[in-house]
Amino acid sequence: MMSPERVKVVVIGAGQAGLSVAFYLRRFELVADQDFVMLDRAPGPGGAWQHRWSSLRLGTAHRVNDLPGMAELGLSFDTADRALPAKEVVAAYYGRFEEHFDLRVRRPMNVRRVSNDGVDLLVDYEDLTPQPLEEQKAKGLFGRRRKTFEEAPPQPQPRHQLQTQFLVNATGTWGSPFVPYYPGMAEFAGRHVHTSDYTEAEDFRDKHVVVVGGGTSAIGFMLELEEVAAGLTWVSRRPIDWLDRQELDLEGASAAVAVQDEAARSGRALPSIVSGTGVPKSRRIAAGIERGLLVARPMFDRIEPDRVVWDGEDGGMARADVIIWATGFRPDLRHLSPLKLREKAGGITVGQGAAWSDPRIFLAGYGPQASTIGASRAGRMIARQIMAMI
Ligand code: FAD
Repeated sequence: MMSPERVKVVVIGAGQAGLSVAFYLRRFELVADQDFVMLDRAPGPGGAWQHRWSSLRLGTAHRVNDLPGMAELGLSFDTADRALPAKEVVAAYYGRFEEHFDLRVRRPMNVRRVSNDGVDLLVDYEDLTPQPLEEQKAKGLFGRRRKTFEEAPPQPQPRHQLQTQFLVNATGTWGSPFVPYYPGMAEFAGRHVHTSDYTEAEDFRDKHVVVVGGGTSAIGFMLELEEVAAGLTWVSRRPIDWLDRQELDLEGASAAVAVQDEAARSGRALPSIVSGTGVPKSRRIAAGIERGLLVARPMFDRIEPDRVVWDGEDGGMARADVIIWATGFRPDLRHLSPLKLREKAGGITVGQGAAWSDPRIFLAGYGPQASTIGASRAGRMIARQIMAMI
């Protein structure tokens, strides 16, 4: 590998959090062009939003906050077209934002590991750009004994390395879906589908579906599948904390943010956000409860090849061709493991977006910043701290 490219700041992830940090660093010229690199593994702009299912609309669940500087482009998510899929709107807005502020995101670049290199950090990443067949043949990557190129095994992607003074990790959670373990899971003859694999309701036509989860994604799937599935069962690991209002109240949200902050500051694993906020009853949800659709059963005890089973006093079973696990995500931080930031308590100690054990490292969009409003605020908070040290 060639010697590493030297820069002052690397930002990993071009979602709401990464873009917000980049905005403050670049707009106010805290870091010069050549000293700043932003990497993202996805093929296009939009952060995690580009991967979400097509029927998801802005404002279906919660408010999506604007990025700092978006007003300058005449853009706001509040006035965006709600008839269009959220994935398209967000990708288009982020794309215009990147272009306007000249952020030059390098993509699709997957960061494989970040490690210590004396006073600096080394960022190893691979270029995920599909390599044209002719180019691979010319490089001799095409095995001679194979009859067709298509049969050739996947080839290693080109690798690169950056040496940096500061790292802002803004990799979100989408790449780290969480599915709890239940006995019989491996023997299930149907399909396990996580929120991150869900594309459209039509995939589940005439199937018996069990939806697991107590948050807005699970509720959204129940409402979408009502007319499509042959049978639909909703289970939640804890009772749903319904709020008697249509939208999330700020007080409830700030209490949940405080709980996240407390966990991040003490290096504990982050608790689920929805368990702290409760679920607001929009008109559509209230009607779903009223007609008996949105009534969650307690969690089942085990899974058999074609059903889920409750062993308790009431017993019972529900037929299942598909189990949809709307059970959330965890921070996507595997590439940071060589840095050994994780505490025994299960998390990374983070306050004001800064890693407590290493002043060169910032985690944007982590814990209390894990919403579009928190991610936007993270930008100013983190950029200021970098500026003070640079
Ligand atoms: P992301 O948007 O996930 O961006 C992270 C980026 O990092 C991605 O582009 C990814 O490609 C990149 N990346 C990850 N790992 C690597 C790597 N190793 N190398 C290179 N690049 C990498 N919040 C709201 O405020 N309102 C809502 O209505 C709302 N709805 C939501 C609905 C769903 C289904 C989910 C799951 C979350 C929702 N949230 C909502 C939460 C919200 O999406 C996030 O808080 C916020 O958008 C996340 O921004 P982010 O920049 O932290 O992460």
